[in-house]
Amino acid sequence: MSNIAQDIELVQQQIIAAASAANRDPIEITLLAISKTRPVEDIRAAISAGQEHFGENYLQDALPKIHSLKDEFPALCWHFIGAIQSNKTKDIAECFDWVHTVERLKIAKRLSDQRPQGLDPLQVCLQVNISGETSKSGIMASEVMQLATDVRSLPRLRLRGLMAIPAATDDIAQQRQAFAKLRQLFEQLNQQGFQLDTLSMGMSNDLESAIAEGSTMVRIGTAIFGART
Ligand SMILES: *Cc1c(COP(=O)(O)O)cnc(C)c1O
Repeated sequence: MSNIAQDIELVQQQIIAAASAANRDPIEITLLAISKTRPVEDIRAAISAGQEHFGENYLQDALPKIHSLKDEFPALCWHFIGAIQSNKTKDIAECFDWVHTVERLKIAKRLSDQRPQGLDPLQVCLQVNISGETSKSGIMASEVMQLATDVRSLPRLRLRGLMAIPAATDDIAQQRQAFAKLRQLFEQLNQQGFQLDTLSMGMSNDLESAIAEGSTMVRIGTAIFGART
């Protein structure tokens, strides 16, 4: 087995252990392999280990990979997790299944308008700036309800949940605190009648904390594909 296939198994075991520690069913947690900057051969190695969900940050890097695998592996599910510029929405709406980084209504409208009729609605998460740093992307907690309400009415999008990239820290208590904030926002939306099922949170360094706080989708790059150069 390649290292990548082995590492996927290790991460899956980590997910199972973290779910078990949190009294959760691991089936609720989807492993999203973040293949940004990786060659298509690495994605093939992951596919051979049964991996179907892949996340990409950079459109120009992602499109050739998606196109070269599409016919052979139609079941793959592609997630866009990078910053979105207006001139990129058409390609994103046509080539991806999910977008985790919706933070502006204008972009959401373009994605909805440009989603091809022959495809299922685009599955989206709103990105929340949970650590409150002005330099980080994502909307503030206070803006979540309004954007969720607006996005919910767009016909070709399906609002699935919330996503965050908290400030990096090795302090477990701080990791958990940030993820708990996102979970609370998610619960508030559902109490207001939204039917969200996705909390996209947790990366290679903090997936245990994220799962303890309710993550349903962990986004793992380094622990599967090695350090990015
Ligand atoms: C790169 C990236 C990841 C993966 O991070 P690792 O630390 O390599 O696991 C997850 N989410 C987003 C938004 C990323 O850009």
